[in-house]
Amino acid sequence: MPGFEVFGEEEKREIQDVLDTGVLFRYEFAEQRQGVYKVREFEEKFAGYCGASYAQAVTSGTAALKVALAALGIGPGDEVITQGFTFVATWEAILELGAIPVFTEVDATMNMDPEDLRKKINPKTRCIVPVHMLGAQARIAEIVEIADSHSIPVLEDTAQAAGGRIKGRHLGTFGRCGTFSFDPVKTLTTGEGGMVITADEGLWRTMSEYHDHGHDHVVNPGGRGGEGRRFIGSNYRMMEIQGAIGIAQLAKLDMMLAEQRKNKARLREAAAAIPGVSFRQLVDPEGDTATHFSFFLQDQEHCRRVNALLQEKGCGAICFADNTWHYYPQWEHLLHGRSVAAGGWPFTGPDGRRRVVYDSAALPASAALMNRNLVYPVSIKMPEERLTAICDALTKAAAV
Ligand SMILES: *Cc1c(COP(=O)(O)O)cnc(C)c1O
Repeated sequence: MPGFEVFGEEEKREIQDVLDTGVLFRYEFAEQRQGVYKVREFEEKFAGYCGASYAQAVTSGTAALKVALAALGIGPGDEVITQGFTFVATWEAILELGAIPVFTEVDATMNMDPEDLRKKINPKTRCIVPVHMLGAQARIAEIVEIADSHSIPVLEDTAQAAGGRIKGRHLGTFGRCGTFSFDPVKTLTTGEGGMVITADEGLWRTMSEYHDHGHDHVVNPGGRGGEGRRFIGSNYRMMEIQGAIGIAQLAKLDMMLAEQRKNKARLREAAAAIPGVSFRQLVDPEGDTATHFSFFLQDQEHCRRVNALLQEKGCGAICFADNTWHYYPQWEHLLHGRSVAAGGWPFTGPDGRRRVVYDSAALPASAALMNRNLVYPVSIKMPEERLTAICDALTKAAAV
């Protein structure tokens, strides 16, 4: 999964360009910076790589979600639909804007179930946020079609799937916008960082202004227009060193994905021998980023038995049903409505009334899948001994 595995001379050279000028800020300082605009260059290259018209770099994947949702006009009174299997950041961003997250089931893709999405759309729905979890595609074409029929924008949370595609088209370009994370465990990493891509110039301009206190970056490219701000903003600016690292990492992304695909194919072949095994459904296997290998066993009991055997061999897999970061019934702070605000916002409104209550048993179809699912993270440089050990353990699990 992580791009830190291939951090090397290329990243250091890009960083050195920034250190040589001493300009760490992405805007202004036109004379000192000697033409070095790393964040801007990273944005241009990332948009070009994805086939998007515009890209806005920000401080994190969470910031990317917040900036995109804010630019889409989301706020209190709105509902935003996402899926019950995702990283907490997806719904934290929705709640921070004062909107209410509504969760759908996942299907055999381990991503948003379009049928359940249809049921959860209501007049308050203002945005739909499918997540391309564990590196692989949601049924994005169907989701966009449903959303379009209700004129609701789709924001693709592509934090875990940079470089993923469907028939050659990049994830993040199907909806109104797509967000990415470059945190330390993501495929392309800048330590901390994020990006939003879009084909919509107006949306991009709003994001560009919002992420930098309302400053206009079009009137004065590389710098900022100060007066006449259209609205209040905030600060989610990426710094030049992150941009520099991003340029070097992006150049390695296709190589990283190719290595992961090779390693994943080995694991899949070994797991295929387990009686009753089936695999996570991939919308387009060729466009899978292969950051994870995910498979289903017959039932929960079978799943536990197989994983116990794998653990005995030092090769235990992840059971995301038990994972407290990524799965709805395990989000105790969400379920109990805990926030830092003394008045209880966003779970409790200014009138003292509870605005939303979540029920851990609300997603039974997801539970039925999650309880019999196992996952191996796939890395770029998996040592041969580790690959062989996992494959041997899977072969042994198949024999019992
Ligand atoms: C990592 C991640 C985020 C948040 O990214 P950060 O850069 O860590 O803020 C958002 N959504 C998903 C699905 C993620 O995996």
